[in-house]
Amino acid sequence: MKDFSYLRADSVEAARNASALPGAMLLAGGTTLVDLAKCGVAEPSTVIDISHIEGLNAIDVTADRAVIGALARMSHVADNPQVKSLFPAVSEALWQAASAQLRNMATIGGNLMQRTRCPYFRDPANFPACNKRSPGSGCSAIGGVTRGHAVLGTSEACIATYPGDLAIALVAFDARSISASASSRSRIFSSPPVPPPSRSTTSAPAR
Ligand SMILES: Cc1cc2nc3c(=O)[nH]c(=O)nc-3n(C[C@H](O)[C@H](O)[C@H](O)COP(=O)(O)OP(=O)(O)OC[C@H]3O[C@@H](n4cnc5c(N)ncnc54)[C@H](O)[C@@H]3O)c2cc1C
Ligand code: SF4
Repeated sequence: MKDFSYLRADSVEAARNASALPGAMLLAGGTTLVDLAKCGVAEPSTVIDISHIEGLNAIDVTADRAVIGALARMSHVADNPQVKSLFPAVSEALWQAASAQLRNMATIGGNLMQRTRCPYFRDPANFPACNKRSPGSGCSAIGGVTRGHAVLGTSEACIATYPGDLAIALVAFDARSISASASSRSRIFSSPPVPPPSRSTTSAPAR
């Protein structure tokens, strides 16, 4: 793993400013980022720990909408009584995902931002060609072992699947995401400043 600097952000504003640093990456629960750093896919120069930002773990559910903070833990959202009764697909999708230990650590923002589990993507030492990792380098999966790859929605450049379960349920609820950014490349999922118009306020970015 490459050496990196560690910064702790105590507000969305601080995280947003720090995320403008070259090579900066956000750390929430760390259950994906640490894996990606270990296998050499993520090589942050600076890791910005956002896990202590107050208020970003809030879960606010009313009869017709759910507002879920980016730092809400997967297990807390899955077990929230109102989410369970009013948005059961969200709760069930979270319960089906990963393991209890991971769900207790992992956050909703991190879940939506997780990267594909294509094994070629996660093995840069043996498979340098991966358009998702290095645009223009090719795709090692095409012509390789593809049992876990996509059947629909593929392209000549990439046949990876999106790995998350939550995002699929959120699409069904026409969810939206609220984010703050220092630049178009660094977005921090956060709590919304005003109530949004749709049923749920966190949505899936294309990864
Ligand atoms: C063994 C294993 C099994 C798994 N199985 C499943 C499964 O069945 N279903 C499923 O859906 N998921 C599964 N996952 C993925 C898991 O849900 C994610 O690792 C987790 O949700 C990531 O959340 P985190 O808070 O730990 O993110 P981190 O690891 O801290 O961050 C992940 C990424 O998101 C970025 N990020 C984090 N928070 C924010 C934010 N607020 N704004 C912008 N960017 C942000 C980080 O920079 C990083 O790139 C599995 C993971 C593992 C390790
Ligand atoms: S399928 Fe996509 S992620 Fe996997 S090796 Fe090909 S380009 Fe990379």
